[in-house]
Amino acid sequence: MTVEKRRILVAGNWKMNGSVEMASALTQAIGDGVSDVQADLVLIPPFPYLLEVGRHIKRSPHPIGLGGQDLSIHPGGAHTGDVSGGMLKDCGCQYVLVGHSERRQDHLETNQVVAEKFLAAQRAGLIPILCLGETLQEREAGQTDQVVISQLEAVIDAAGIAAFEQAVIAYEPVWAIGTGQTASPEQAQAVHASIRARIRASSDTIGGQVRVIYGGSVKPDNAREILSCEDIDGGLIGGASLEAESFLGIAKAAS
Ligand code: PEP
Repeated sequence: MTVEKRRILVAGNWKMNGSVEMASALTQAIGDGVSDVQADLVLIPPFPYLLEVGRHIKRSPHPIGLGGQDLSIHPGGAHTGDVSGGMLKDCGCQYVLVGHSERRQDHLETNQVVAEKFLAAQRAGLIPILCLGETLQEREAGQTDQVVISQLEAVIDAAGIAAFEQAVIAYEPVWAIGTGQTASPEQAQAVHASIRARIRASSDTIGGQVRVIYGGSVKPDNAREILSCEDIDGGLIGGASLEAESFLGIAKAAS
């Protein structure tokens, strides 16, 4: 069966970078240069800048989505420092990252916690971007598929396969994030195909539709090669999303 290529999604994860001034200037510059981009775009700034970025996005001639970098498993209450899905929604978000490897490492988020966050996102009406990926040690031990599929399995167990109708999956090999060492198109495509095969095993339709995007040192000069792979439906961009020119360069390479 031939499946039409899914729409490309390019999401910029600013991580813990920026200022109000930078958020404003960067979003405005992206909005100004976006007219010939065909991919769906999402900006994922730190929490304090969501409203500022949202304000500029509203004026963009091309629709640009907004996302949070994390959310609490709780809907509200006595959880100092946490931000709920409802709050993200209230600030104009449609998306939220769940299980980014920096959260898994820095905050010891387990597969179970990530699955709870995925559920909390969907309860709040947000589209989770579920991040999966192996460490270098795991890759070298030949455990890539096993690690990535077990991270995915924890969410399928908790949320059910139908939940992936309203979700995005991001494959991000930990060793490629922020290192300048991107996975080769063949390495990335192989893992994307495994992820899609696992979803297809439960639902052929959802497996054919779900967007699986790649993250890990994507730059304008390697974007086309990676994003043209059969099972790669876009990019989660860290460092290169902090400059309008490189972020737009990736988005245009994808178009
Ligand atoms: C990321 O932060 O998710 C990421 C992929 O970062 P970078 O593009 O800098 O590797």
